[in-house]
Parts: sequence; structure tokens; C-alpha cells
Amino acid sequence: MYEQPELGFDFNALEPHLDAETLKIHYGKHHAAYCKKFNDAVSGTEYEEKELSELLVGLNDLSGESVPAIRNNGGGAWNHSFFWECLCSENESGEPSGELLDAITASFGSFEEFKEKFSTAAATQFGSGWAWLVVGEDGLEIIKTSNQDCPLTEGKKPILCIDVWEHAYYLKYKNLRPSFIEAFWNVVNWDAVGKKFLE
Ligand code: MN
Repeated sequence: MYEQPELGFDFNALEPHLDAETLKIHYGKHHAAYCKKFNDAVSGTEYEEKELSELLVGLNDLSGESVPAIRNNGGGAWNHSFFWECLCSENESGEPSGELLDAITASFGSFEEFKEKFSTAAATQFGSGWAWLVVGEDGLEIIKTSNQDCPLTEGKKPILCIDVWEHAYYLKYKNLRPSFIEAFWNVVNWDAVGKKFLE
């Protein structure tokens, strides 16, 4: 059984950038539903006792009728839990430093260039999906995934993500996804991202 992790902050902690109403619905309805549907799908199957992350890593080798639900609902459960870990209040956000900053600079030229490339990836993901910063073979990479596909399935180690499904921003930003992406940069938990990088 996958248990939805508690949020590390209050629903209003990301205001005014990510609004409390959106977060409340996003966490309490959307994310909760992915977790429940994943658990329902694997209940009573050979995958019931497996770690969700292991199922996502090995997804392409799984078989059975619960596989689409593992991809979509299991991916949705894991991706959102990861997304919340990447966020914090504006006061605590900070900036990348140390080895993470060195890696960003080595791979993208500068922190500003990285932000621009990541923002473009997030803005140009067609339809629902995610943009991710992942550790690749030759340094850091920016990738996009559709729907609830997870970088773990592509053999990538994610360290930062943004959810660009409309449910992540539509109440506050309507159709203006780029405004939501711009706001996101104010509430990235760089301390957490740095730790994920070094893990
Ligand atoms: Mn979402």
C-alpha cells in the first residue's frame, strides 16, 4: 500500500505564488485519488507488496492488467509526492549552491540559463505532463514526461520537477502556464533539491 505523504508545509505556505485553494485540491483530491487508485489496482496482485518506486523503475518489464494503473496512478502518486518535496515557502527557497550549483553551471552555463531552459521545457510540454531536472550520464539534463510518466522508468534520477497539468495552475493562472512557471521559481526548495542531487 502506498501512503500519501503529509505535506511539509501548510496549504497557504506557498502564497502568493501557488495559491492555497489550488494546493488544497491538488493535494487533497488529485494526488489523493492517484494514491487510492494505485492501491486499488495492485491490491490482490503480485505487485501489492512492492515499493512503488521499484515498480516504476521496472515498469516496462511488468505485465498484467494492473500495469496501466501503475503507470498512470502509481506515476501520479509518486510524481506528486516528489513535487511537494521540491517546494517550500518563498522565505525558505534560497538558491542552489555548492556542488549542485557547480553541476548546473557545468551543464547549462549558468543558473539563469538553466532556469530559462527548464521554463521553456515546462511551457512547451504539449498537453498534460511534467518537466524534470535529472542526473544523466553526462551531467544534469532537462526532460519532459507526458501524463504521469515518471523519469524513473527512463532510468533517470530526478532532482527537481514541475507539474504542468492544468489542475496545477488553472484556478489562479487560467490558461497562462508561463505565469505559473515564473511563480514556481519563487518557491523551489533548493536545499531539498541539493540533497536529492547528493543522494
Ligand atoms: Mn498534479
